[in-house]
Amino acid sequence: MLDMIAFDADDTLWHNESRYLEAKDRFKQLLSTYHSPGWGENRLDETEIQNIRSYGYGIKSFTLSMIETAIELTDGQITARDIEEILGLGKRMLEAEVQLFEHVEETLAKLARDYPLMLITKGDLFEQQRKIERSGLAQYFRHIEVVGEKTGASYRVLLEKHHVEPHRFLMVGNSMRSDILPVLEIGGRAVYIPYQHTWLHEQVSTDETQQHEYVELEDLGQLPELVARLGKQ
Ligand SMILES: [Mg+2]
Repeated sequence: MLDMIAFDADDTLWHNESRYLEAKDRFKQLLSTYHSPGWGENRLDETEIQNIRSYGYGIKSFTLSMIETAIELTDGQITARDIEEILGLGKRMLEAEVQLFEHVEETLAKLARDYPLMLITKGDLFEQQRKIERSGLAQYFRHIEVVGEKTGASYRVLLEKHHVEPHRFLMVGNSMRSDILPVLEIGGRAVYIPYQHTWLHEQVSTDETQQHEYVELEDLGQLPELVARLGKQ
């Protein structure tokens, strides 16, 4: 039996990482006038991950990381005009339409009839709230939670807050590190729906995943059938 079904948002309900990859490509093109392409290829990813501690997640942090990397890789030679371009990349990401995956709306509509649904996303509150609003999906969720990090401890706090027993809780998401492993760790259930791109920070080794049991689906359209099965157990 399930008392609550929770969903991750970015790259589970709508496209996210592909936006970052597009911006990273444009960033590389911009810097290619300063040095040969390929140079410093991974520097942006490294800076971005290091900066989580200072800025947290999201597009604003990513924009600051692009500027920091550009200054570093050009040895301070980047022009104010090019920094303006970088700021523009970030702003365009913030203003972009939310692009839902296939089957998302019908699946949420179907499940919301029988179960309380919760959205659990991590990141910048303002950014995430704006995406949720633009997605048109808020109506299907009884609870929406934006957390700083998704760890066993943070899931435990959420479940206590909403009076849900871990074994009657199902989390659906695209990130093994944030949506699946911490939920299994506290005795919850998890459905993994991989997305074609996984940000370096969210990647985990196969060793970490092999010790745990979760269900993997290809897309959200397969979820109602699985929930119907789990609901009878
Ligand atoms: Mg995600």
